[in-house]
Amino acid sequence: VDTEEFRRLGHEVVDWIADYRARLARGEFPVMSRVAPGEVRAALPVVPPVQPQSLDGVLDELTRLILPGCTHWQDPRFFAYFPSNSSLAAVLGDFLSTGLAQLGLNWQASPALTELEELTTDWLRQMLELSSDWSGVIQDTASTATLVALISARERATEYGAARGGLQASGRPLVVYASSQSHSSVEKAALLAGFGRDNVRIVAVDQHFGMSADALRTAVAQDEAAGRLPCAIVATVGSTATTAVDPLEALAGVARTRGLWLHVDAAMAGSAMILPECRPLWQGIELADSLVLNPHKWLGASFDCSTYFVRDPQHLVRVMSTNPSYLRTAADAKVRNFRDWGIPLGRRFRALKLWLLIREQGVQGLQARLRRDLEHARWLAAQIDATPGWQRLAPVPFQTVCVRHVPDGATGEALDAHTLAWVRRINESGRAFLTAAVLEDRWMVRVSFGGEGTTHDHVVALWAQMQDEAERRV
Ligand code: PLP
Repeated sequence: VDTEEFRRLGHEVVDWIADYRARLARGEFPVMSRVAPGEVRAALPVVPPVQPQSLDGVLDELTRLILPGCTHWQDPRFFAYFPSNSSLAAVLGDFLSTGLAQLGLNWQASPALTELEELTTDWLRQMLELSSDWSGVIQDTASTATLVALISARERATEYGAARGGLQASGRPLVVYASSQSHSSVEKAALLAGFGRDNVRIVAVDQHFGMSADALRTAVAQDEAAGRLPCAIVATVGSTATTAVDPLEALAGVARTRGLWLHVDAAMAGSAMILPECRPLWQGIELADSLVLNPHKWLGASFDCSTYFVRDPQHLVRVMSTNPSYLRTAADAKVRNFRDWGIPLGRRFRALKLWLLIREQGVQGLQARLRRDLEHARWLAAQIDATPGWQRLAPVPFQTVCVRHVPDGATGEALDAHTLAWVRRINESGRAFLTAAVLEDRWMVRVSFGGEGTTHDHVVALWAQMQDEAERRV
């Protein structure tokens, strides 16, 4: 593909994406893919082409063979998992990132990449009304950011033990605390950072599924009494199952008095903190050591774009820095080298999509959309609360509603079977996509709002379908 061929094919690709998005808005696809396992692969050649092939016709193949295997995350009737908006302005930013093909090994390798990342993360910091004590960097995912946080916590607790004998030389086992509602990435990060499963404490939650500060205090005291070294607390603002909120201020109190690192996982719900009315929910955030939130979830910055904020960048750089001779430059003392702010060496120009998104929507545009999504969730919660036979299972601080339909007398496994059956019927209908999840050992259904294109009419249609499918006799 030379530049002229690229121009021709590129226009076709843009047209194809624009048509796809327009078709999504018209509800032309089943939201959840209907292909069987192996079906996509079976339609494609087993061996690679030996001779060069023309790319003419590839978009037809994409439409015929690939599209049926796609679940449509940008469909306005996508209510599964969590929103992963890819705003068209952010799509353009990602195009430009790939077209420019910068590799930010250090500041010199792409000054613009580095400085736009500094700028956009600082814009976001201001939008969140975080103090200027915080510095941001873009990571690929929250999972990586939480791993970086726990490695940072480990190194603070061991006074940079990695530069000596590492965890193998530390006398006292280091302990990490997270609630039973924390995301699986937290336990994974703790294991990968070398803490060991025996040293991950799953702290009990209160009736609203937020971490109990009392239970945390007790667990920390027990570990200290047993000769272990409490090291880090991972608090969640907006848990995956129910969007529960851990009480940051109380947890920060424990962290401060006992010298623990406090990392806040606000991967999904953190975007809501650009709304002043939501900020009381993370009261105490200024007392944390690190924070992750994913603009690639609810905000609209196309996967992958996960922002990681720290209060002590010198510590982060000391932990992550490798500094081989070929990457050292005269500018090093004056600039940020983001390779020292995380795990990978190379980095994409991810800031472009965040930059275009924030410019195109403006803070007010983003705020208006998030408020609309919060309203969708409140509206559905009100219908559920007012309708006999339906139960709302958790508070609705953000955009997710957790629900069960309970037919007369159904309990236990019969109730689970009923729940899984009605959600399966909805998903198979192609008219909406919801996720079932286990809460306190029983299946429930999560309705997660936040799709950029979701309007009140979509929410009304969903509620009607939920009632049809759950209340119908089968
Ligand atoms: N933390 C929370 C609270 C989440 O909801 C998710 C979502 O999947 C994650 C972490 C993981 O995010 P990522 O895919 O960016 O690693």
